[in-house]
Amino acid sequence: MLDADFFRRWMTATAASVDREAERLTALDSPIGDADHGSNLQRGFTAVAAALEKEPPTTPGAVLVLAGRRLISTVGGASGPLYGTLLRGTGKALGDAAEVSEEEFAQAFRAGVDGVMRLGGAAPGDKTMIDALVPAVDALGDGFGAARAAAEQGALATTPLQARKGRASYLGERSIGHQDPGATSAALLVAGLAEANGE
Ligand code: ADP
Ligand code: MG
Ligand code: MG
Repeated sequence: MLDADFFRRWMTATAASVDREAERLTALDSPIGDADHGSNLQRGFTAVAAALEKEPPTTPGAVLVLAGRRLISTVGGASGPLYGTLLRGTGKALGDAAEVSEEEFAQAFRAGVDGVMRLGGAAPGDKTMIDALVPAVDALGDGFGAARAAAEQGALATTPLQARKGRASYLGERSIGHQDPGATSAALLVAGLAEANGE
């Protein structure tokens, strides 16, 4: 079973990897965006980690709802409301249980990803974070390690795609040949699950 502590570890592991990879995320956002994705998420997840440390919520749902709210209020770019919706939606779907099974988490995470698709209107293949998140959700039944591999694969597979959502879509065909920054950070988020599980 996964408790509030597991979800706090997920968020702090993600904050640490976003910190480590911030320059790379911003560099990916340079040719097909406005070169701020790393700094956007660094600011957001630093705020998430600080909020969780200050007043540690006691249920999995509350951890993710708080994290989502912090992302929405601290990240100015498109990715803030999108990741905020993902975590808040997942947290709401978990309700107020003190512990959840991996299967319950997988269902809730699917609901969160569906919320991101509703909010942003992106589908798989549009060259966004969805291209890492949907394969991860589909693989979650096989464990966190499988989800991590699927998300990393999904992020790499955005390179040949033409962007149809977000800033990169303004470039039309010129968006082809670059890995999507949001799919890359989504793979970091999913990798944080395996890390929080000691994998
Ligand atoms: P901004 O584009 O506002 O500067 P960021 O650079 O932080 O925001 O985030 C850009 C990332 O957000 C993109 O690489 C893409 O993965 C994701 N993104 C943008 N628009 C959408 C959308 N409509 N649906 C899903 N993801 C999106
Ligand atoms: Mg940007
Ligand atoms: Mg921006």
